Amino acid sequence: MPKMNGNFSKLEKNYLFINIAQKVNAFKQANPDADIIRMGIGDVTLPIAKPVIDAMKKGADEMGVKETFRGYEDSGAGYDFLKEQIAAYYKSFGADVKASEIRINDGAKSDCGNIQDIFAEDNVVLVTDPVYPVYVDSNVMSGRKIICADSNEENGFAAMPDGNVHADIIYLCSPNNPTGSAYTKDQLKVWIDYAIANGAVIIYDAAYEAFITDPDIPRSIFCVEGARKCAIELCSLSKTAGFTGMRAGYTVIPDELEFPTSDGSMVSVSQIWGRRQGSKFNGVSYPVQCAAYAVFTEEGMRATRENIAYYQENAKIMTDTLTRLGIQFTGGVNSPYVWFKCPNGMTSWEFFDYLLANACVVGTPGAGFGKNGEGWFRLTAFGDRDRTIEAMQRLEKLIGSAS
Ligand code: PLP
Repeated sequence: MPKMNGNFSKLEKNYLFINIAQKVNAFKQANPDADIIRMGIGDVTLPIAKPVIDAMKKGADEMGVKETFRGYEDSGAGYDFLKEQIAAYYKSFGADVKASEIRINDGAKSDCGNIQDIFAEDNVVLVTDPVYPVYVDSNVMSGRKIICADSNEENGFAAMPDGNVHADIIYLCSPNNPTGSAYTKDQLKVWIDYAIANGAVIIYDAAYEAFITDPDIPRSIFCVEGARKCAIELCSLSKTAGFTGMRAGYTVIPDELEFPTSDGSMVSVSQIWGRRQGSKFNGVSYPVQCAAYAVFTEEGMRATRENIAYYQENAKIMTDTLTRLGIQFTGGVNSPYVWFKCPNGMTSWEFFDYLLANACVVGTPGAGFGKNGEGWFRLTAFGDRDRTIEAMQRLEKLIGSAS
Protein backbone atom coordinates (compact mmCIF):
# COMPACT_ATOMS: atom_id res chain seq x y z
CA MET A 1 0.00 0.00 0.00
CA PRO A 2 1.49 3.42 -0.89
CA LYS A 3 1.94 5.96 1.90
CA MET A 4 0.72 9.45 1.09
CA ASN A 5 2.95 12.50 1.49
CA GLY A 6 2.09 13.62 5.03
CA ASN A 7 3.26 17.16 4.30
CA PHE A 8 0.02 17.77 2.41
CA SER A 9 -1.82 17.69 5.72
CA LYS A 10 0.18 20.77 6.74
CA LEU A 11 -1.26 22.84 3.87
CA GLU A 12 -4.10 25.29 4.39
CA LYS A 13 -7.23 23.17 4.02
CA ASN A 14 -8.70 24.98 1.03
CA TYR A 15 -7.00 27.02 -1.65
CA LEU A 16 -8.01 30.68 -1.18
CA PHE A 17 -9.86 31.04 -4.47
CA ILE A 18 -11.89 27.88 -3.84
CA ASN A 19 -13.11 29.43 -0.57
CA ILE A 20 -14.06 32.58 -2.42
CA ALA A 21 -15.84 30.67 -5.19
CA GLN A 22 -17.87 28.74 -2.59
CA LYS A 23 -18.96 31.95 -0.86
CA VAL A 24 -19.87 33.62 -4.17
CA ASN A 25 -21.84 30.56 -5.31
CA ALA A 26 -23.79 30.49 -2.05
CA PHE A 27 -24.55 34.22 -2.44
CA LYS A 28 -25.68 33.67 -6.04
CA GLN A 29 -28.01 30.88 -5.03
CA ALA A 30 -29.58 33.06 -2.35
CA ASN A 31 -29.69 36.11 -4.69
CA PRO A 32 -30.13 34.78 -8.24
CA ASP A 33 -30.72 38.26 -9.73
CA ALA A 34 -27.71 39.92 -8.11
CA ASP A 35 -25.43 41.71 -10.59
CA ILE A 36 -22.06 40.53 -9.28
CA ILE A 37 -18.83 42.28 -10.32
CA ARG A 38 -15.78 40.05 -9.93
CA MET A 39 -12.55 41.78 -9.03
CA GLY A 40 -11.06 38.89 -7.11
CA ILE A 41 -9.01 36.53 -9.25
CA GLY A 42 -6.14 38.19 -11.10
CA ASP A 43 -7.16 37.00 -14.55
CA VAL A 44 -7.05 39.21 -17.64
CA THR A 45 -10.18 39.97 -19.67
CA LEU A 46 -9.05 41.66 -22.90
CA PRO A 47 -8.53 39.52 -26.01
CA ILE A 48 -4.99 38.76 -27.11
CA ALA A 49 -3.52 41.27 -29.58
CA LYS A 50 -4.02 40.52 -33.29
CA PRO A 51 -0.35 40.19 -34.33
CA VAL A 52 0.08 37.59 -31.58
CA ILE A 53 -2.96 35.58 -32.64
CA ASP A 54 -1.89 35.81 -36.31
CA ALA A 55 1.51 34.37 -35.38
CA MET A 56 -0.12 31.51 -33.49
CA LYS A 57 -2.38 30.70 -36.46
CA LYS A 58 0.60 30.68 -38.79
CA GLY A 59 2.44 28.35 -36.40
CA ALA A 60 -0.60 26.07 -36.27
CA ASP A 61 -0.80 26.01 -40.09
CA GLU A 62 2.87 25.01 -40.28
CA MET A 63 2.10 22.00 -38.09
CA GLY A 64 -0.30 20.75 -40.79
CA VAL A 65 2.29 20.76 -43.59
CA LYS A 66 4.86 17.96 -43.96
CA GLU A 67 7.79 20.30 -44.66
CA THR A 68 7.18 22.54 -41.65
CA PHE A 69 5.66 20.07 -39.17
CA ARG A 70 7.45 19.92 -35.79
CA GLY A 71 7.35 17.19 -33.17
CA TYR A 72 9.21 17.27 -29.86
CA GLU A 73 11.54 20.18 -29.58
CA ASP A 74 15.16 18.97 -29.11
CA SER A 75 15.86 20.60 -25.76
CA GLY A 76 12.35 21.21 -24.45
CA ALA A 77 13.72 24.57 -23.26
CA GLY A 78 12.20 26.67 -26.03
CA TYR A 79 13.06 27.59 -29.60
CA ASP A 80 16.06 29.84 -30.15
CA PHE A 81 13.96 32.29 -32.18
CA LEU A 82 11.89 33.01 -29.06
CA LYS A 83 14.74 32.98 -26.56
CA GLU A 84 16.70 35.44 -28.67
CA GLN A 85 13.71 37.80 -28.76
CA ILE A 86 13.38 37.61 -24.98
CA ALA A 87 17.11 38.26 -24.50
CA ALA A 88 16.75 41.36 -26.71
CA TYR A 89 13.75 42.43 -24.60
CA TYR A 90 15.87 42.15 -21.44
CA LYS A 91 18.58 44.21 -23.09
CA SER A 92 16.02 46.94 -23.91
CA PHE A 93 15.61 47.68 -20.19
CA GLY A 94 19.23 47.22 -19.21
CA ALA A 95 19.41 43.60 -18.05
CA ASP A 96 22.19 41.49 -19.45
CA VAL A 97 20.68 38.07 -20.08
CA LYS A 98 21.83 35.57 -22.72
CA ALA A 99 19.36 33.63 -24.86
CA SER A 100 21.03 30.41 -23.67
CA GLU A 101 20.20 31.32 -20.05
CA ILE A 102 16.44 31.42 -20.78
CA ARG A 103 14.12 28.41 -20.65
CA ILE A 104 10.54 28.65 -21.95
CA ASN A 105 7.81 27.07 -19.84
CA ASP A 106 4.04 26.70 -19.75
CA GLY A 107 3.59 29.69 -17.45
CA ALA A 108 5.40 30.93 -14.38
CA LYS A 109 3.29 29.02 -11.87
CA SER A 110 4.78 25.68 -12.90
CA ASP A 111 8.33 26.85 -12.31
CA CYS A 112 7.34 28.80 -9.16
CA GLY A 113 6.21 25.46 -7.78
CA ASN A 114 8.83 23.20 -9.35
CA ILE A 115 12.04 25.15 -8.83
CA GLN A 116 12.28 23.96 -5.22
CA ASP A 117 12.77 20.39 -6.57
CA ILE A 118 16.46 21.11 -7.16
CA PHE A 119 17.19 22.33 -3.62
CA ALA A 120 17.82 20.13 -0.57
CA GLU A 121 15.03 19.60 1.91
CA ASP A 122 16.88 21.09 4.88
CA ASN A 123 17.12 24.58 3.35
CA VAL A 124 15.40 27.40 5.20
CA VAL A 125 12.93 29.21 2.95
CA LEU A 126 12.13 32.88 3.40
CA VAL A 127 9.00 34.44 1.94
CA THR A 128 7.65 37.93 2.34
CA ASP A 129 4.23 37.92 4.01
CA PRO A 130 1.60 38.55 2.48
CA VAL A 131 2.70 36.07 -0.16
CA TYR A 132 1.65 34.53 -3.47
CA PRO A 133 0.64 31.12 -2.06
CA VAL A 134 2.59 28.87 -4.48
CA TYR A 135 5.97 29.66 -2.92
CA VAL A 136 4.73 28.50 0.46
CA ASP A 137 2.63 25.54 -0.64
CA SER A 138 5.32 23.96 -2.83
CA ASN A 139 7.83 24.12 0.02
CA VAL A 140 5.34 22.84 2.60
CA MET A 141 4.71 19.87 0.30
CA SER A 142 8.45 19.16 0.38
CA GLY A 143 8.67 19.56 4.16
CA ARG A 144 10.88 22.65 4.30
CA LYS A 145 11.04 25.15 7.13
CA ILE A 146 9.51 28.48 6.09
CA ILE A 147 10.17 31.83 7.73
CA CYS A 148 8.61 35.19 6.91
CA ALA A 149 9.78 38.75 6.41
CA ASP A 150 6.89 41.04 7.25
CA SER A 151 5.45 43.34 4.60
CA ASN A 152 3.20 45.72 6.47
CA GLU A 153 1.79 49.19 6.76
CA GLU A 154 5.00 50.50 8.36
CA ASN A 155 7.26 49.48 5.48
CA GLY A 156 4.73 50.19 2.71
CA PHE A 157 4.26 46.44 2.20
CA ALA A 158 7.85 46.10 0.98
CA ALA A 159 9.55 43.76 3.46
CA MET A 160 13.31 44.09 3.85
CA PRO A 161 15.72 41.44 5.17
CA ASP A 162 16.79 41.11 8.79
CA GLY A 163 20.57 40.63 8.79
CA ASN A 164 20.32 38.54 12.00
CA VAL A 165 18.09 35.92 10.42
CA HIS A 166 19.55 33.26 8.12
CA ALA A 167 17.77 31.98 5.01
CA ASP A 168 18.89 29.76 2.12
CA ILE A 169 16.09 30.24 -0.41
CA ILE A 170 14.41 33.65 -0.70
CA TYR A 171 11.27 34.28 -2.73
CA LEU A 172 10.66 37.86 -3.85
CA CYS A 173 7.84 39.06 -6.04
CA SER A 174 8.01 42.56 -7.50
CA PRO A 175 5.70 44.17 -8.47
CA ASN A 176 4.07 42.20 -5.73
CA ASN A 177 1.06 39.99 -5.78
CA PRO A 178 -0.99 40.70 -3.67
CA THR A 179 0.15 44.08 -2.34
CA GLY A 180 1.00 45.87 -5.59
CA SER A 181 4.15 47.31 -4.02
CA ALA A 182 7.36 47.21 -6.07
CA TYR A 183 11.00 47.23 -4.96
CA THR A 184 13.27 50.06 -6.01
CA LYS A 185 16.74 49.30 -7.32
CA ASP A 186 18.25 50.27 -3.95
CA GLN A 187 15.90 47.98 -2.04
CA LEU A 188 16.67 45.08 -4.35
CA LYS A 189 20.39 45.72 -3.88
CA VAL A 190 19.87 45.26 -0.11
CA TRP A 191 18.20 41.89 -0.75
CA ILE A 192 20.99 40.86 -3.13
CA ASP A 193 23.69 41.79 -0.60
CA TYR A 194 21.78 39.85 2.07
CA ALA A 195 21.49 36.80 -0.21
CA ILE A 196 25.18 36.86 -1.08
CA ALA A 197 26.17 37.26 2.61
CA ASN A 198 24.00 34.22 3.45
CA GLY A 199 25.07 32.13 0.45
CA ALA A 200 21.37 32.13 -0.45
CA VAL A 201 19.48 32.05 -3.72
CA ILE A 202 16.79 34.62 -4.61
CA ILE A 203 13.90 33.25 -6.63
CA TYR A 204 12.56 36.43 -8.18
CA ASP A 205 9.06 36.48 -9.62
CA ALA A 206 8.71 39.27 -12.19
CA ALA A 207 5.30 38.20 -13.53
CA TYR A 208 4.04 41.81 -13.38
CA GLU A 209 7.11 43.60 -14.74
CA ALA A 210 5.18 44.91 -17.76
CA PHE A 211 3.14 47.16 -15.45
CA ILE A 212 6.15 49.11 -14.22
CA THR A 213 6.13 52.76 -15.21
CA ASP A 214 8.48 54.25 -12.58
CA PRO A 215 12.09 54.43 -13.86
CA ASP A 216 13.44 53.70 -10.34
CA ILE A 217 11.74 50.31 -10.29
CA PRO A 218 13.77 47.66 -12.13
CA ARG A 219 11.93 45.45 -14.64
CA SER A 220 14.23 42.56 -13.78
CA ILE A 221 16.43 41.66 -10.84
CA PHE A 222 19.21 41.36 -13.42
CA CYS A 223 19.13 45.16 -13.75
CA VAL A 224 20.73 45.23 -10.30
CA GLU A 225 24.40 44.63 -9.63
CA GLY A 226 25.24 41.29 -7.99
CA ALA A 227 22.02 39.53 -9.07
CA ARG A 228 23.83 37.16 -11.41
CA LYS A 229 25.64 35.71 -8.38
CA CYS A 230 22.48 34.83 -6.47
CA ALA A 231 19.25 35.05 -8.48
CA ILE A 232 16.89 33.04 -10.62
CA GLU A 233 14.14 35.02 -12.36
CA LEU A 234 10.69 33.72 -13.26
CA CYS A 235 8.49 35.60 -15.67
CA SER A 236 5.22 35.08 -17.48
CA LEU A 237 3.32 36.24 -20.52
CA SER A 238 0.02 35.84 -18.69
CA LYS A 239 -0.29 39.42 -17.57
CA THR A 240 2.14 40.93 -20.09
CA ALA A 241 0.20 39.70 -23.10
CA GLY A 242 -2.99 38.01 -21.89
CA PHE A 243 -1.59 34.46 -22.00
CA THR A 244 -3.47 33.05 -19.00
CA GLY A 245 -5.30 30.70 -21.36
CA MET A 246 -2.35 30.20 -23.74
CA ARG A 247 0.31 29.23 -21.18
CA ALA A 248 3.83 30.53 -21.72
CA GLY A 249 6.47 31.97 -19.44
CA TYR A 250 10.23 31.86 -19.00
CA THR A 251 12.85 31.23 -16.37
CA VAL A 252 16.30 32.79 -16.39
CA ILE A 253 19.25 31.18 -14.63
CA PRO A 254 22.65 32.87 -15.06
CA ASP A 255 25.39 30.55 -16.36
CA GLU A 256 27.69 31.34 -13.45
CA LEU A 257 25.13 30.60 -10.71
CA GLU A 258 26.32 27.65 -8.63
CA PHE A 259 25.77 26.30 -5.14
CA PRO A 260 27.20 23.38 -3.15
CA THR A 261 25.57 19.94 -2.86
CA SER A 262 25.52 18.07 0.47
CA ASP A 263 29.06 16.76 -0.14
CA GLY A 264 30.33 20.33 -0.60
CA SER A 265 31.07 20.11 -4.34
CA MET A 266 29.78 23.05 -6.40
CA VAL A 267 27.16 22.42 -9.07
CA SER A 268 25.70 24.62 -11.76
CA VAL A 269 22.10 25.55 -10.96
CA SER A 270 21.28 25.83 -14.64
CA GLN A 271 22.60 22.32 -15.34
CA ILE A 272 20.66 20.77 -12.47
CA TRP A 273 17.48 22.59 -13.49
CA GLY A 274 18.02 21.48 -17.10
CA ARG A 275 18.42 17.91 -15.86
CA ARG A 276 15.21 18.18 -13.83
CA GLN A 277 13.28 19.64 -16.74
CA GLY A 278 14.72 17.04 -19.12
CA SER A 279 13.13 14.33 -16.97
CA LYS A 280 9.83 15.99 -16.23
CA PHE A 281 8.95 18.52 -18.94
CA ASN A 282 8.66 18.21 -22.72
CA GLY A 283 8.35 21.84 -23.69
CA VAL A 284 5.72 24.31 -24.85
CA SER A 285 3.70 23.85 -28.04
CA TYR A 286 5.15 25.34 -31.22
CA PRO A 287 2.14 27.57 -32.08
CA VAL A 288 2.21 29.06 -28.58
CA GLN A 289 5.93 29.78 -28.89
CA CYS A 290 5.25 31.49 -32.23
CA ALA A 291 2.63 33.63 -30.47
CA ALA A 292 5.07 34.38 -27.64
CA TYR A 293 7.68 35.45 -30.19
CA ALA A 294 5.20 37.89 -31.70
CA VAL A 295 4.65 39.51 -28.29
CA PHE A 296 8.25 40.73 -28.38
CA THR A 297 8.20 42.09 -31.93
CA GLU A 298 7.74 45.84 -32.36
CA GLU A 299 4.19 45.41 -33.62
CA GLY A 300 3.29 42.85 -30.93
CA MET A 301 4.77 45.01 -28.19
CA ARG A 302 2.81 48.06 -29.32
CA ALA A 303 -0.46 46.10 -29.39
CA THR A 304 0.02 44.33 -26.05
CA ARG A 305 1.02 47.60 -24.36
CA GLU A 306 -2.34 49.04 -25.40
CA ASN A 307 -4.02 46.36 -23.31
CA ILE A 308 -1.74 47.09 -20.38
CA ALA A 309 -2.54 50.81 -20.67
CA TYR A 310 -6.24 49.90 -20.46
CA TYR A 311 -5.70 47.99 -17.20
CA GLN A 312 -3.51 50.80 -15.88
CA GLU A 313 -6.35 53.25 -16.49
CA ASN A 314 -8.68 50.91 -14.57
CA ALA A 315 -6.16 50.91 -11.72
CA LYS A 316 -6.16 54.71 -11.75
CA ILE A 317 -9.96 54.81 -11.53
CA MET A 318 -9.71 52.52 -8.51
CA THR A 319 -6.96 54.43 -6.72
CA ASP A 320 -8.71 57.76 -7.40
CA THR A 321 -11.81 56.34 -5.71
CA LEU A 322 -9.84 55.14 -2.69
CA THR A 323 -8.09 58.50 -2.44
CA ARG A 324 -11.45 60.29 -2.47
CA LEU A 325 -12.69 57.95 0.25
CA GLY A 326 -9.56 58.55 2.33
CA ILE A 327 -8.73 54.83 2.34
CA GLN A 328 -5.09 53.85 2.64
CA PHE A 329 -3.73 51.70 -0.19
CA THR A 330 -0.63 50.43 -1.97
CA GLY A 331 -0.31 49.38 -5.61
CA GLY A 332 -2.35 50.53 -8.56
CA VAL A 333 0.82 52.17 -9.88
CA ASN A 334 3.44 49.79 -11.36
CA SER A 335 0.92 47.05 -10.67
CA PRO A 336 -2.55 45.82 -11.66
CA TYR A 337 -3.37 45.16 -8.00
CA VAL A 338 -4.81 47.65 -5.55
CA TRP A 339 -4.31 46.64 -1.92
CA PHE A 340 -6.25 48.64 0.62
CA LYS A 341 -7.08 48.78 4.28
CA CYS A 342 -10.53 47.47 5.12
CA PRO A 343 -12.68 50.37 6.32
CA ASN A 344 -14.03 50.72 9.85
CA GLY A 345 -11.56 48.18 11.31
CA MET A 346 -13.16 45.22 9.57
CA THR A 347 -11.21 41.99 9.13
CA SER A 348 -10.50 40.91 5.56
CA TRP A 349 -13.24 38.28 5.51
CA GLU A 350 -15.75 40.57 7.26
CA PHE A 351 -15.16 43.14 4.53
CA PHE A 352 -15.39 40.45 1.83
CA ASP A 353 -18.86 39.49 3.11
CA TYR A 354 -19.90 43.12 3.58
CA LEU A 355 -18.83 44.13 0.07
CA LEU A 356 -20.48 41.12 -1.53
CA ALA A 357 -23.72 41.48 0.41
CA ASN A 358 -24.06 45.26 0.02
CA ALA A 359 -22.38 46.09 -3.29
CA CYS A 360 -22.25 42.69 -5.06
CA VAL A 361 -18.52 43.20 -5.63
CA VAL A 362 -16.09 40.31 -5.18
CA GLY A 363 -12.53 40.95 -4.07
CA THR A 364 -9.84 38.92 -2.35
CA PRO A 365 -9.41 39.02 1.43
CA GLY A 366 -5.84 39.95 2.30
CA ALA A 367 -5.78 37.44 5.16
CA GLY A 368 -5.75 34.68 2.54
CA PHE A 369 -2.18 35.70 1.63
CA GLY A 370 -0.71 35.52 5.13
CA LYS A 371 -0.94 37.01 8.60
CA ASN A 372 0.09 40.52 7.53
CA GLY A 373 -2.78 40.58 5.06
CA GLU A 374 -5.37 40.59 7.85
CA GLY A 375 -7.43 43.77 7.70
CA TRP A 376 -6.45 44.38 4.05
CA PHE A 377 -8.14 43.63 0.76
CA ARG A 378 -7.06 43.12 -2.87
CA LEU A 379 -8.90 44.24 -6.00
CA THR A 380 -7.64 43.71 -9.53
CA ALA A 381 -7.61 46.15 -12.42
CA PHE A 382 -7.95 43.37 -15.01
CA GLY A 383 -11.69 43.87 -15.46
CA ASP A 384 -13.85 45.58 -18.01
CA ARG A 385 -13.74 49.43 -17.88
CA ASP A 386 -17.47 49.98 -17.41
CA ARG A 387 -17.67 47.29 -14.74
CA THR A 388 -14.66 48.77 -12.93
CA ILE A 389 -16.33 52.19 -12.92
CA GLU A 390 -19.59 50.64 -11.73
CA ALA A 391 -17.81 48.73 -8.94
CA MET A 392 -16.07 51.88 -7.76
CA GLN A 393 -19.36 53.81 -7.76
CA ARG A 394 -20.90 51.08 -5.63
CA LEU A 395 -17.90 51.13 -3.28
CA GLU A 396 -18.04 54.90 -2.97
CA LYS A 397 -21.75 54.82 -2.22
CA LEU A 398 -21.34 52.02 0.32
CA ILE A 399 -18.30 53.35 2.19
CA GLY A 400 -19.27 56.98 1.79
CA SER A 401 -22.68 56.33 3.36
CA ALA A 402 -21.20 54.18 6.17
CA SER A 403 -18.61 56.73 7.30
N1 PLP B 1 3.56 34.69 -10.25
C1 PLP B 1 2.67 35.53 -9.75
C2 PLP B 1 3.11 36.50 -8.72
C3 PLP B 1 1.34 35.48 -10.16
O1 PLP B 1 0.45 36.32 -9.63
C4 PLP B 1 0.96 34.54 -11.13
C5 PLP B 1 -0.42 34.45 -11.60
O2 PLP B 1 -1.34 35.07 -11.17
C6 PLP B 1 1.93 33.69 -11.62
C7 PLP B 1 3.22 33.78 -11.16
C8 PLP B 1 1.58 32.59 -12.56
O3 PLP B 1 1.38 32.98 -13.83
P1 PLP B 1 1.21 31.97 -15.02
O4 PLP B 1 -0.15 32.21 -15.57
O5 PLP B 1 2.31 32.33 -15.95
O6 PLP B 1 1.37 30.56 -14.52
